[in-house]
Amino acid sequence: MRTLITNGTIVTAEGSSEADMLIDGETIAHIGRDLAGAGMAADETIDAAGRYVIPGAIDVHTHMELPFGGTFAKDTFETGTRAAAFGGTTTIVDFAVQTRGRSLREGLDAWHAKAEGKAVADYGFHMIMSDVNDDTLAEMDHLVAEGVPDFKLFTAYPGVFYSDDGAIFRAMQQTAKNGGLIMMHAENGMAIDVVAADLVSAGKTDPYYHGVARYPIFEGEATNRVIRLAEAAGVPVYIVHLSARDALDELRAARDRGAMAFAETCPQYLFLSLDDMKDGFEGAKYICSPPLRPADHQEELWRGLVKDDLQVVSTDHCPFDFEGQKELGRDDFRKVPNGLPGVEDRVDLLHDGGVVGGRLSRERWVEVISTAPAKLFGMYPRKGAVAVGSDADLVVYDPNRTRTISARTHHMDVDYSCYEGREVQGASDVVLSRGAVIVRDGEFTGRPGHGQFIKRSTADVARMG
Ligand SMILES: [Zn+2]
Repeated sequence: MRTLITNGTIVTAEGSSEADMLIDGETIAHIGRDLAGAGMAADETIDAAGRYVIPGAIDVHTHMELPFGGTFAKDTFETGTRAAAFGGTTTIVDFAVQTRGRSLREGLDAWHAKAEGKAVADYGFHMIMSDVNDDTLAEMDHLVAEGVPDFKLFTAYPGVFYSDDGAIFRAMQQTAKNGGLIMMHAENGMAIDVVAADLVSAGKTDPYYHGVARYPIFEGEATNRVIRLAEAAGVPVYIVHLSARDALDELRAARDRGAMAFAETCPQYLFLSLDDMKDGFEGAKYICSPPLRPADHQEELWRGLVKDDLQVVSTDHCPFDFEGQKELGRDDFRKVPNGLPGVEDRVDLLHDGGVVGGRLSRERWVEVISTAPAKLFGMYPRKGAVAVGSDADLVVYDPNRTRTISARTHHMDVDYSCYEGREVQGASDVVLSRGAVIVRDGEFTGRPGHGQFIKRSTADVARMG
C-alpha cells in the first residue's frame, strides 16, 4: 500500500515546509515537491491543502484500566487508544503497575495482556515500582533490555505507591548502571495526609478540599528533594505532571546548575484551576493529583514550556465516571478516585491555547506534544519525526477548524468532560498509524490489534542534559 499526501504544510519541531510525501507500507519513503509529477504512483492520495501534516502526537502518561481506590480507570486500551487517535495521538506510553509484594514481571505481563490485540495504535510501557528491593532492582535491568526503560516512583500516596528516600535513591543508583530513567510523582504525601486528615476532622469533606490539602509547597519540596537525590546518584530524572510554580522554580534552579532534570505538565494545569473545584460535589470531576492550582500558576507553566524548562505536555489520562465512580467519595474527598480524562483533547487544547493563543510557535507545539516525548522516551526518530524511514504516524491537521469539546461527542469512555462547552480552534482531519488511516473526517477506520508494542531504547538525550 502506497499513500501520497499532497499540498500540505509539513510542520516539525525543526521547521515548516510545503512538501508532499510518499508512504510505502508502514514508513515514510519520500518527501519532496510534486511527487506525483515526479512519477511516484500511489494507491491513495490525501489532499492536505490548507492543512498541516504533523508527526502523530505522543502521550507518555496514560493510565488505561488503572486500578485505583477500589475501582478501575474506565478506558481500555481499545477505547483509550481510539479516543487518542481521534485527537491526533498515535502513540501512548502507559504505566504498568507492580502490585506490592509481587514482581515487576507480573505487573508488566498483566499490562501486556490488557493491550495486546486491543490497542488501535502503538503503545509502550513505563513500570510503576511499588517495592524497591534486591529482586525488583535486578528485574529493572531485564525490563530495560526489553524496551521498558523507565520506572516511576512516588513520594505521594503513603501505604500505596509511596517510596521513601532510600528506596528512591537505590532505584536511581540502579539506573546509573542500566541506563534507565526514573520518573517521579513529586508531592510530599506524608505531609499532605496530615493536612487532609485535619480538614476532614473539621468537617471539610468537599472535593474542593482535595485541592486545598495538597499545598503547592509540598510539590516544590518533593521536586527539589528527588532532583537532589538524582544529582547525588548522577542520573537524569523526569518529573511527571508538574503543576505548581513552586515545583517549576525548583526545576528551573536545578537545570540552571546543570542537573539532568526534565518535566512534563498537563493540559489540566494549563487550562483549569482550583476555582473549578468549588461547585460542591461537582468538584470531584476535577480531582487529580497533584491538584488543580490557583489560576495564577498557569502563565508560569506556559513560560516554562516556552523556555524549555518543561519539555513535554502529556495528559495523565485516568478517567472515572462521575456517576458511580467519583461518587465513591461523596462523604470524604479522600475517597474520590484521582484522575481526569484527557487523552483525546490534548493536541487541540495545546494548539488553541498555545499556537492560536500566541504563546507557542506551531513548531514548539509539535515539539512538546510529539518530538520531545519521542526523544526523552527512546522512540526517536521512529516516532516524533516526519522523515524518510520514520513510521508513517501522521496527522493531517486543520489549524482553522473549530470544534466544541463535550462528553456527548467525545470518544473517551467516561460520562463527563472537564472542558465541557469549550470551543477550540484546530482539529485532526486524517490520522495515520504506521501508514494505515485510522481516523478520517470524524470516522474511525482502524481496528483493534493494529497497535503494536513499541520496544523503546534508553533515552541518551536525557543524559546529555
Ligand atoms: Zn499518572
